Amino acid sequence: MAKKLTPKKNNTYSAEKGELAMIEGIIEGSPDAVGVAVIRYDCGCRKMAAVNKSGEPASEIIMYRDHAESICDQCKEDNGSYMRMIKQFIYWNTPEPDEYTKKMIIDKVLGTEQ
Ligand SMILES: [Zn+2]
Repeated sequence: MAKKLTPKKNNTYSAEKGELAMIEGIIEGSPDAVGVAVIRYDCGCRKMAAVNKSGEPASEIIMYRDHAESICDQCKEDNGSYMRMIKQFIYWNTPEPDEYTKKMIIDKVLGTEQ
């Protein structure tokens, strides 16, 4: 009998393929970006924005949906409601900022619930 492969445990959120392409595009277009804040919604849409080392926005907020021309009707209606958020994290550009800076940015951008 074939053994079932157990997925590797990973405590850090990693970006998915389509998401990563978007993130890299945002970083490329935002010279001040130290990372990109990513919010995933239950519908599959994402909201992203680059952040600078002070935790301030370094780009416009971008909403997108994988393999789709536009975001879903629900998101169009509520503009990505807080209520439907399933995950939020910051994807750090390399070289990553130091731990202190990262924590400050996370607190400022995502709130202290992380
Ligand atoms: Zn949506």
